Amino acid sequence: MRDSFLPFSPPYIDEEDRRALDEVLRSGWISTGPKTSMFEQEFLKATSGESALALNSCTAGLHLALRVLEIGPGDEVITTPMTFCASANVIEHVGATTCFVDVDPATLLIDPRKIEARITEKTKAIIPVHYAGQLCDMGRINKIASDNGLHVIEDGAHLMPADLKGNKNLVAFSFYANKNITTGEGGMLVGPEDLIKRARVLSLHGMNKDAWKRYDKSGSWKYDVVIPGYKYNMTDLQAAMGLTQLKKLDHFYEHRKEAFIYFTEALRGVEGVEPIKTDFEKSSFHLFVVRIKKEILGLNRDEFVESMKKKNIGVSVHYQSLHTSSYYSQKYGSQKENLSHAGQAGEEVVSLPISPSYSKKDYDDIIFSLRSVVSLR
Ligand SMILES: *Cc1c(COP(=O)(O)O)cnc(C)c1O
Repeated sequence: MRDSFLPFSPPYIDEEDRRALDEVLRSGWISTGPKTSMFEQEFLKATSGESALALNSCTAGLHLALRVLEIGPGDEVITTPMTFCASANVIEHVGATTCFVDVDPATLLIDPRKIEARITEKTKAIIPVHYAGQLCDMGRINKIASDNGLHVIEDGAHLMPADLKGNKNLVAFSFYANKNITTGEGGMLVGPEDLIKRARVLSLHGMNKDAWKRYDKSGSWKYDVVIPGYKYNMTDLQAAMGLTQLKKLDHFYEHRKEAFIYFTEALRGVEGVEPIKTDFEKSSFHLFVVRIKKEILGLNRDEFVESMKKKNIGVSVHYQSLHTSSYYSQKYGSQKENLSHAGQAGEEVVSLPISPSYSKKDYDDIIFSLRSVVSLR
């Protein structure tokens, strides 16, 4: 057994990131400024997106997306329950109604066939989540949206890399500590220029000029408040790290892909530990998700997580299906029948840890521990 605990998916941070942060600290400007602009531009180059707004989180991006599309009370928004709570919480924040649609049991991505059945005259938008780094069937989802006059807001928190060429939706990315690239906390909203322009005003108090321009020598202290906005801006400290993380993206991607290949091979023939279906051509390999089959192993997911911890391996759960949480089940009822695939997956899924900071030995330890945990039964 390992003698030290392997934490779940820590960020990979190197000298390049530290130097970039130090440079900003010494520059005299640590809030939103030139680095933030540069990060937006580089992010667009990396994704072929149209327009970008750097924010302090992906949650902020999703919230602003709903606001600029003017979605609010009386409106319904469709999303998946197999996601982080933020994807649905933002729907509640704007006073709209959250409509959960069940997932495909093989991929755990929102099932497009079931989206259509959930559309009413109140439906305004769909928030598909690219769960675990797999791409939702956007051809189908965009078609359903255009046929029914709906907006699409993509939760891309698990993406990077991403290809946004020709994409007309708003897409929100996360740079939280364990995401594919990180700025500690941070996010990016990408989409059509007119919508991003409006989101930019809302992201900084609804002021018509940002601080960077006001404090510049050529700037004026004068500003107007055109709408009561939020405090969602990214800082140059975060952006500097975003820039250096972006430079390492190819390396991160290769590392994650290799980890997926390694886990897939190593688990072949391990009964009762079933990886979800992954398209290796399209994934950004964020989470390696397996289902723990209690009927085969004699141990459930929660016991598996505890046993792995005892072996000094930190695994995680993405996610307990959101419709089973207190808030959503009290507000919308149990929805057990309609969301049966998500409900079952929510009790079985475990994410094995992946990080570009892990060594080959770390991966061997994960598999060795997993094998001993499941064969003890
Ligand atoms: C992490 C995550 C978010 C929220 O990202 P933040 O940057 O922490 O706000 C939203 N959706 C999904 C699917 C996530 O995993």
